[in-house]
Amino acid sequence: MTPPEWEALCDGCGKCCLNKLEDEDTGEIALTRVACRLFDDATCRCAQYPVRRQFVPECVSISAESLPSIAYWLPQTCAYRLLHEGRELFHWHPLISGDPETVHAAGVSARGLTVPEFEVDEEDWEDHIIEEPT
Ligand code: SF4
Ligand code: SF4
Repeated sequence: MTPPEWEALCDGCGKCCLNKLEDEDTGEIALTRVACRLFDDATCRCAQYPVRRQFVPECVSISAESLPSIAYWLPQTCAYRLLHEGRELFHWHPLISGDPETVHAAGVSARGLTVPEFEVDEEDWEDHIIEEPT
């Protein structure tokens, strides 16, 4: 896959930009609606994607190399996770539908769901745990 093809796999759901809580004992991942400080809830995109690491150095890059070790915490519907699990893209994926809005119309994105992390103390993230919209 070329770099642009790899990038195009992203469906724009924005769910990887939501903070997660991992149970130290069970490894279970809980999704919260507390979004990364650079997440734009209206566009459902990173507001500073090209230079994001200047502000969020911990932002994880999804690459063919990193995918096997990070797939377990990616959202259930994430196209990279589906690729890793050998599953097909959903009908609402922009590469299938031809329309970047279908991920939102299908109700599987983070658009309109989030609160910014600078408004919620980390110790209170537990109060914002949500079921992943799928
Ligand atoms: S969860 Fe996957 S498909 Fe959704 S925005 Fe993140 S990288 Fe893209
Ligand atoms: S820096 Fe941007 S891409 Fe990374 S988690 Fe935050 S909003 Fe998402």
